[in-house]
Amino acid sequence: MNNSILVLNSGSSSIKFGLYDGKHPGLPGIGHGQVSGLGTKPRLQAFDRDNVAIVDLQLEQGCDHAQAMLALVDWGRTRKASENVAAVGHRVVHGGGLYDAPVLVNKDVLDQLDTLNPLAPLHQPHNLEGIRVLAKLVPELPQIACFDTAFHRTLPKLARQFGLPAHLYERGIRRYGFHGLSYEYMAETLPGIIGQAAAGKVIVAHLGNGVSMCAMLEGRSVATTMGFTALDGLPMGTRCGDLDPGIVLYLLNELKMSSAQIAELLYEKSGLLGMSDISRDMRELLDSDTAAARETIDFFVYRINRELGALTAILGGLDALIFTAGIGEHSAAIRSRVCDLASWVGIRLDAKANERHALRISADDSSVPVWVVPTQEEWMIARHTQRLLTRL
Ligand code: ADP
Repeated sequence: MNNSILVLNSGSSSIKFGLYDGKHPGLPGIGHGQVSGLGTKPRLQAFDRDNVAIVDLQLEQGCDHAQAMLALVDWGRTRKASENVAAVGHRVVHGGGLYDAPVLVNKDVLDQLDTLNPLAPLHQPHNLEGIRVLAKLVPELPQIACFDTAFHRTLPKLARQFGLPAHLYERGIRRYGFHGLSYEYMAETLPGIIGQAAAGKVIVAHLGNGVSMCAMLEGRSVATTMGFTALDGLPMGTRCGDLDPGIVLYLLNELKMSSAQIAELLYEKSGLLGMSDISRDMRELLDSDTAAARETIDFFVYRINRELGALTAILGGLDALIFTAGIGEHSAAIRSRVCDLASWVGIRLDAKANERHALRISADDSSVPVWVVPTQEEWMIARHTQRLLTRL
């Protein structure tokens, strides 16, 4: 009987994958890997459940998503595990107003999801390409799309609106929010980690390449920093975060930039990379002794602090703060700076616990506990895929 779940996260230059054991209630991972360097020097790497490398292959120079997926399927077929795959769960960034729950994909669903490509140009086309390629290679395999927007279906209208005419809201110009799979993973697992506080007022700071924060009340999203697109909110690796919309008009009308140039600027040349002119990678900025790196980090921390204040106000208090994703999980320096600024809310950091990336990094006398919880978006997709399969 087929019982493992394959999860694919198909991005612009990589396809990440994970295999999960559907026989086991905890859905443990049994392997993971990625094809990285798509379009440049593609490389297929996979690891078993103990993180031991089981393949490391250079693929043909410049190979695209379709060729990479073919290499992945071929390699999977040489291994017994792939025969057991019951379904594939995909990360799809935008479900728009169309989908607020995982869905079994067919051609009509794909066509509808295509219409959302302009709302997430860095991610959505690549997410959908992964589904299309796999559907051609293994048409009998059920494929399930899991959306980064879906967890935010509970946002009240107040949090969804922009100050625009109502007919635009009705046309779907509203806040959707992203990183929902990460936040949903938190909502599912926090009760077992942080206990009673998970049922209260919680802010999760997802600080990775993409950066956002979510205010959760009783495990539901009530406010989040990303908006209609994944450009909004906090500054990210290459995305700008929130912006006076008048700037876009100025770039267009006065600087005579084309919409394509503006899109490239806002999505790919802004954020940590654009501000520092050094790197999109927080590690490089932290290692740099330049004023530009320092100012960029200052701005990053300043914006997190501002959003922390806003989200705390919306929640009417704070019972727990959670750090997650690449920067949140690994950068003691950024966590420390954010927590120092949040002393007004009663946060006190345990510096040693923070340095060793302990699960709980707040001091005993902190009135708000602070936790570092690694996110597992892929596991969340596997869980959704398994649940939907049982209903089919
Ligand atoms: P994605 O959003 O692509 O899934 P991640 O959550 O893996 O990305 O976060 C990637 C980012 O995490 C990197 O760009 C890097 O800036 C940051 N990062 C990873 N490790 C560290 C570290 N030890 N210190 C500071 N930043 C880190």
